[in-house]
Amino acid sequence: MTNEEFANYLFPNVQDVSYYENKYKKRNLKEGAIVTRYAPSPTGSIHMGNLFQAFISKQYARQSGGIFFLRVEDTDQKREVENGIEGIVKDVESFGINFDEGYGIGGEYGPYLQSERGDIYAAYVKYLVAKGLAYPCFCSSSEIDENRTIQESTKERIGYYGRWATCRDLTPDTAKEKIEAGNPYIFRMKSRGDFNKKHVYHDAIKGDLEYPENDMDNVILKSDGLPTYHFAHAIDDHLMGTTHVIRGDEWVSSLPVHLELFDLLGFKTPQYAHLAPLLKKDGDVVRKLSKRKDPEASVRYYHELGIPVDAIKLYLSTVGNTNFEEWYLANPDKNITDFTFQFDKMSVGGTMFDLAKLENISKVYFSVQKADKIYDEVLNYSKQYDLEFANILEHNKDYTISLLNIEREIERPRKDIGAYPSVRKEFWYMYDELFNKEANPYQDIAKNYQYDDLITYMNTIYLSTDTEEEWFGKVKDFAGTHGYAINRKDYKADPSSFKGQVSDFCELIRVMATTKTISPNLYDILKLLGNDRLKKRLELFARQK
Ligand code: GLU
Repeated sequence: MTNEEFANYLFPNVQDVSYYENKYKKRNLKEGAIVTRYAPSPTGSIHMGNLFQAFISKQYARQSGGIFFLRVEDTDQKREVENGIEGIVKDVESFGINFDEGYGIGGEYGPYLQSERGDIYAAYVKYLVAKGLAYPCFCSSSEIDENRTIQESTKERIGYYGRWATCRDLTPDTAKEKIEAGNPYIFRMKSRGDFNKKHVYHDAIKGDLEYPENDMDNVILKSDGLPTYHFAHAIDDHLMGTTHVIRGDEWVSSLPVHLELFDLLGFKTPQYAHLAPLLKKDGDVVRKLSKRKDPEASVRYYHELGIPVDAIKLYLSTVGNTNFEEWYLANPDKNITDFTFQFDKMSVGGTMFDLAKLENISKVYFSVQKADKIYDEVLNYSKQYDLEFANILEHNKDYTISLLNIEREIERPRKDIGAYPSVRKEFWYMYDELFNKEANPYQDIAKNYQYDDLITYMNTIYLSTDTEEEWFGKVKDFAGTHGYAINRKDYKADPSSFKGQVSDFCELIRVMATTKTISPNLYDILKLLGNDRLKKRLELFARQK
């Protein structure tokens, strides 16, 4: 029996591979356009490393005028979670990363769910068997385990290769007899590689990778009839026209197998780009960000924290390309989409994932947003996570926008908001509903101040009709006539003859109005609070002694 006859015997009813090669036409894209994909297994949710991968893959496709698609790799049914894919798609899309085609969207290269592509994989297994490049293997798992034990004890390489690959040289007739006798089997590729030969592959991110040729007869079709990741990857990325496989570098060790599979199948290899893992500084050690140990590894965590999606994308861009941050600081009015990512500007070894840095980037991001946009987003967030504050915001819309507008849209805007909940945390004192809820809003701070002058000030000076300049002039005059130094020089010369400086008097007003020694511009805050509220606060403040 020839290999071809054997292939027909094994797969009597599958299409010839030429059918699929014709069906899935070469993509008609402009020169230089790249096709990338995100290919999750349906495990329910994604972590930051996956998001980074999807984000980067999308950027490269978009900036080149190419395609970014979604393929679901559900061939490992042990790892599958019910509705797992919906959770993943929701996670990715919640970061505004949209697919041009793929699972749930459609497109000409589907089905995009691997479990629906069984006929396609069978056609290519048949093709390889006919060429003598794949074969059925009858070894049981206990035989494989036995080999492993021997290999371990004799310190030989573990695996199914060379003399260990006992089914490799079965003739088609013998194999057929075994099948007819009811022996279960799987399919393996018939490696042509020589482990003693070295090759160099140029990875788009990692640069030259030297590796020994693969000589393992890896499984391509499992006993459940589903392909292994290796085989499905080669077939799918070939037929779907992927030009760049951007994936985690845990796959680097499988690269020799993948390169050999593309070779056996006669496919052009895509360009691989292996992403360095996200790292975390944990005390003195630097380790991989762990889905299990680190809450910040989960992408949903950031929605809860209230860090805006666009701020996260800025952060991912910053860790994505070493020159992004410099570009963004020089072009704060531009969008991420105006930046061109380059593989050679990506981290090779590991990318430090630093929450403090993310928060800083988020503060910069908030500082350049319009107040009404922040109001809308904080309201949205609060409706989900803080109903009490959502209610307050709804009743104080213009007031809140005016508050958020203080020291905004200027050359150096305030950077005190890092996440949506910061608005409540920083400015709770601006809302009577929250201020009055506190049994003692001033805590111990009032005790530090001498406030008699404040009372006089409050009884004589009106705020709301003054401009800031006029108001400050009056404050200065008042402070000057009540024992405060109105210039630094006088104060420095003889501090003991003054109660303090004008700034100390302003601090007193600020503490009474806000309970804090630091706040946005005092005049704006006082004006927003208004005289009636201030008078009530003064009374409360005075009662604290
Ligand atoms: N399904 C694989 C995973 O979830 C995809 C790897 C790849 O992008 O090729 O790890």
